[in-house]
Amino acid sequence: MAVPPPGKDPFRMANPRAIKRAEETPLDLLKDASEATRTVVRAVIVRMVTEGWAYRDGIKALVQEAGLPEDLAEMVNGYENRRAQNLGRIDSWRASWKITGHRTMKKVSPRQGGALNPICQAVIDAGAIDIDDSWPQGFSPPFYPGCRCILIPAVGGSTHK
Ligand SMILES: [Zn+2]
Repeated sequence: MAVPPPGKDPFRMANPRAIKRAEETPLDLLKDASEATRTVVRAVIVRMVTEGWAYRDGIKALVQEAGLPEDLAEMVNGYENRRAQNLGRIDSWRASWKITGHRTMKKVSPRQGGALNPICQAVIDAGAIDIDDSWPQGFSPPFYPGCRCILIPAVGGSTHK
């Protein structure tokens, strides 16, 4: 997912399923943080996803409100935002296939112009899989902090890349 431009986009519609995923995030990158910190971070992430904050605003809020160091705030911001958005999209595809009967698959596309980690290259090479299956590297991007791979639907069970 591309880094959003500065400022909030009033026309951006939040995906309710992404918001739910943000509310339920296990905060993989903050396993050792206190419960109080985790609660504040989760609340910030939910607002970020709900209101469609710009990238910089998310980092600022995590530093100011949760007391995270800047570098950790940047990592958590990008990871949690992409995680919630991608899981929310998968939830939407699953819901739509129950209505339409057209089963969507998922695949991963590299970020434009970005260097590619071997972890991500392996997933891209693997092609499309069922949305409820996992690649050996994980269920959905981001596969590691800083992963900016794009999750895209693949219709009709095609495995071409
Ligand atoms: Zn990646």
